Amino acid sequence: MTLATEHVNVLRTNGARAMPAAKMRNPVEPGHAAEIPSVDRLLNARAFHALLARHGRTQVVAALRTHLDSLRHAALAGALARASLTGEVIAAAVDTTLAEAARPRLRPVFNLTGTVLHTGLGRALLPEEAVRAVARALSAPVNLEFDLQSGRRGERDGVIEGLLCELTGAAAATVVNNNAAAVLLMLSVLANRREVLVSRGELIEIGGSFRLPDIMRRAGAKLVEVGATNRTHLPDYAAALGPRSALLMKVHTSNYAICGFTKSVTLAELVGLGRAHAVPVAVDLGSGSLVDLTRWQLPREPTVRETVAAGADLVTFSGDKLLGGPQAGLLVGRADLIAKLRKDPLRRALRVSKFTLAALEAVLALYRAPEFLTERLPTLRLLLRSPAHMRAQAARLRPLLQRSLGEAYQVADAPMLSQIGSGALPIEQLPSYGLAVRAARGKRGSLERLDAALRALPRPVIGRIAEKTLWLDLRCLEAADEALFDTQLAALRP
Ligand SMILES: *Cc1c(COP(=O)(O)O)cnc(C)c1O
Repeated sequence: MTLATEHVNVLRTNGARAMPAAKMRNPVEPGHAAEIPSVDRLLNARAFHALLARHGRTQVVAALRTHLDSLRHAALAGALARASLTGEVIAAAVDTTLAEAARPRLRPVFNLTGTVLHTGLGRALLPEEAVRAVARALSAPVNLEFDLQSGRRGERDGVIEGLLCELTGAAAATVVNNNAAAVLLMLSVLANRREVLVSRGELIEIGGSFRLPDIMRRAGAKLVEVGATNRTHLPDYAAALGPRSALLMKVHTSNYAICGFTKSVTLAELVGLGRAHAVPVAVDLGSGSLVDLTRWQLPREPTVRETVAAGADLVTFSGDKLLGGPQAGLLVGRADLIAKLRKDPLRRALRVSKFTLAALEAVLALYRAPEFLTERLPTLRLLLRSPAHMRAQAARLRPLLQRSLGEAYQVADAPMLSQIGSGALPIEQLPSYGLAVRAARGKRGSLERLDAALRALPRPVIGRIAEKTLWLDLRCLEAADEALFDTQLAALRP
C-alpha cells in the first residue's frame, strides 16, 4: 500500500458498512456456516503462501481464527455474502489485520506545534553523528564499564566526563537518566535528613509531577523556604543558615518569570555566603546551555560554564533540552561531591544506558566546534530557521492544503510565534511562519475533525487549536521532509 492510498478515507465516511441482508447478492443462508472454509484448507491455499512467509504461522493462524469467527457470526445473522468466502478475500482481510498489528506504536510525527523542544513529542532531535554512534554502540560490544588502558573495570560515565569538564570548566562530572533524577540524587546524597535553603521565588513545578518540594521530601531533605515569592535578599539566606544546613540551592525558574517589584540574590552573592559558612551551593539550571545563545541573536540563557565559573559547587541540567542531545541528567562540579554521588546506590538505580552515553558523547563533541553547531545540531538549526524561508514554505503549501481540504475550510499563510519549549526561556517567543486553518463560514468543516484527520495520517501531523484556528507552525518542517508532507496532503482530499 502506498502512503497516498493508505489513509485516503480519513475525511470520508468510515469505510464499508454492514450491508442489510435483503440487498446482498448471493448471501450464505443463516445456519449454513459450514460453507466457511476450514483453517487447514485456507492455510494450504495459494493466497496464504505469501502471508505465511511474511508473518509466520503463529500470527497467521491466530488472525485467521478470529476472522473466521467473525464470518460465522455474520453467517448466523444472515449478513454474509458468498464473495467473502474465497481464499483471496480472506487472505486480504487477514493481511490487513496483521499489517495494522505490525505497525509500530511509537511513530515519527510532524511537529507543527510551534514548540521546538516538545516534551510530548520527544524533545531534541539527535544529529546524524549521534544516531550513528548509537547504532555502533548497539551492534557491537563496547567499553562501557571497562578501562581499556588497565584492562580493569571502568566508570560508566568515564567516556564523557572529560568532554563535559572541558566544555563547562568543571572539575568533575557524572550523568544519570534525566535532570529530575540528577536533582533527586544530589539531594538524597548531600542533604538527606538535613536542610536545603531555596528562595520562595524558585519553588518550581516543571510538569509531569516534578515539583521541587516533592522531590525534596522524596530525597529525605528538609526544604527551608527563604524570602518572599517576589523578593529574596542575601540576609534572608544568612538568617536561615544553621547547623543542619546541607545545601544552598538556586533553581532556574524555567517555565515562568516573576516580574514587577522583584529582587533575587545573584549566584555570586550566594557563593560568597556559602563559602563563609562552608555550605555548598547547588544550581538546578534546567535547560543549561553549553554556549551563549546571544551569539546567534537568540534570547539569553545562563550557560553551564558561567555558572561553574561563578562558583557553584554542583550544577545539574538536562541532556535533551537546549543542549540538543539524548534524555539525560548531567551533574558537573566539585570532584569530592561528584565522587560521593557516584558511590551512592541510588546512582546505580538511575544510571544511563549505553545508547545514552553513545549519543551524548557524539553531541558533546559537536560543541568543540561551535562555529558549525548551527548546521550540525538540529535543535539549534530549528531555533535559527529564517522567517523568510518559513514564509516561502507557507506560501507554497497554502494552495496545496487548501485544495486538499476543499471549501469547508479556509487556509491562510500567517506569521506566528514559536517557542523553545521544555521550560527554556518561557516568555521569549520566536517569530515564525505557518498555516492558519479556519472553518469556512456556513460550511460544516470542524477543526477538531480536521485535527483528528491530520493525526490519522501515515505520519501524523500535530498542530495546535486556539482561537477557533488550527495553527500549523512550519518551523520544524525541514526541507528533507517536505516531499512526504506534500504527498500526505494530497491523500487528505475529501
Ligand atoms: C526541565 C527541568 C527539570 C527536569 O528535567 P528533566 O530532564 O525533564 O528530568 C528540572 N529542573 C528544571 C529547572 C527544569 O527546567
